[in-house]
Amino acid sequence: MATLREILEARVREGDLYEKLERNRVRCYACGHCCPIPEGQPGVCKVRYNQGGTLYVPWGYVGGVQCDPIEKKPFFHAYPGALAYSFGMLGCDLHCGYCQNWVTSQALRDPNAVSSPVQTSPENLVQDAVRQGAKVLVSTYNEPLITSEWAVAVFKEAKAAGLITGFVSNGNGTPQVLEYLRPWVDLYKVDLKSFDDRHYHELGGRIGPILDTIRRLHEMGLWLEIVTLLIPGFNDSEDELQRLTEFLASISVDIPWHVTAFHKDYKMDDPKNTSAAELMRAAQIGRQAGLRYVYAGNLPGQVGELENTHCHNCCEVLIRRHGYLIEDYRISPAGLCPSCNEPIPGRWPAKFDGQIADSPFLPHRRSHLVTILN
Ligand code: SF4
Repeated sequence: MATLREILEARVREGDLYEKLERNRVRCYACGHCCPIPEGQPGVCKVRYNQGGTLYVPWGYVGGVQCDPIEKKPFFHAYPGALAYSFGMLGCDLHCGYCQNWVTSQALRDPNAVSSPVQTSPENLVQDAVRQGAKVLVSTYNEPLITSEWAVAVFKEAKAAGLITGFVSNGNGTPQVLEYLRPWVDLYKVDLKSFDDRHYHELGGRIGPILDTIRRLHEMGLWLEIVTLLIPGFNDSEDELQRLTEFLASISVDIPWHVTAFHKDYKMDDPKNTSAAELMRAAQIGRQAGLRYVYAGNLPGQVGELENTHCHNCCEVLIRRHGYLIEDYRISPAGLCPSCNEPIPGRWPAKFDGQIADSPFLPHRRSHLVTILN
């Protein structure tokens, strides 16, 4: 029986995001590592590799698909109530000990992470998404930057079908990959894990490329939201949270910041789970830094008004939520507060059509997707 590595090495094509170097080496630009890769070797992510001086990249499969309310990504200022069809491949450029998607992200590093790839095409994925009623297609689960060529192929098909597209990413990008994605990605969620370069080293990265990516995404005009998983004892000091939120506010006070609760997962089972009081304290720091839209997630019903969207001008409640469930929606078709007419930053639909689902589910008609590992 073929190993997972052998199966994946057969599902590749030549990448777009690289340059050839002397002695058959290549340099990859899909993520901030910018790996120089000798012939016969993979990059840090293990899924892009150099064979004969050509960079080969993942192609033609998914590691998983699922339909979610867009609020789960989380996007709170983009098409509220829409169904987002999420897909991912395998592998990651970081190795976070608390990863909640470790079965797909660490599939080639950790023998305990067993995930069956499913052969598919961009057309099949988009047809599947449309059949489920999805309005948004999202590349997530593994780090989507390292599989950008596949994401763009899927998104080209998605755009032709009238869908919105999004990335849920660690933000470890490069100028090259962001320019490559720019025409095809509408929404971008960055998981800003810390504001301390030493912490990023523990996770296998550097903070510099991530902060540059956040700045560039905002300048490019993609709709950007930021999430920080609050891990007690790791990234929750007042000083770190203050610097993190002041950085975001210096780019734009209109960037929504989601601070979400850690629960024990994968290799990180030391810290206790994040409490509602700790989330609310972090949110308060974000508000003091000047951010207008701060949300506390993962603990529905326990964080008061921090699940709701308020007008930053008159404080009117514009969207009332319980977890992923939208209980009330009051933003005007033009994206204005109905009380004071202040424009509310975001991507708002011309008409709120209600919510298609308020809980995640697997697409139930997957006949076009065929498992290739058995
Ligand atoms: S995606 Fe990142 S980790 Fe993978 S080969 Fe390219 S630069 Fe290296």
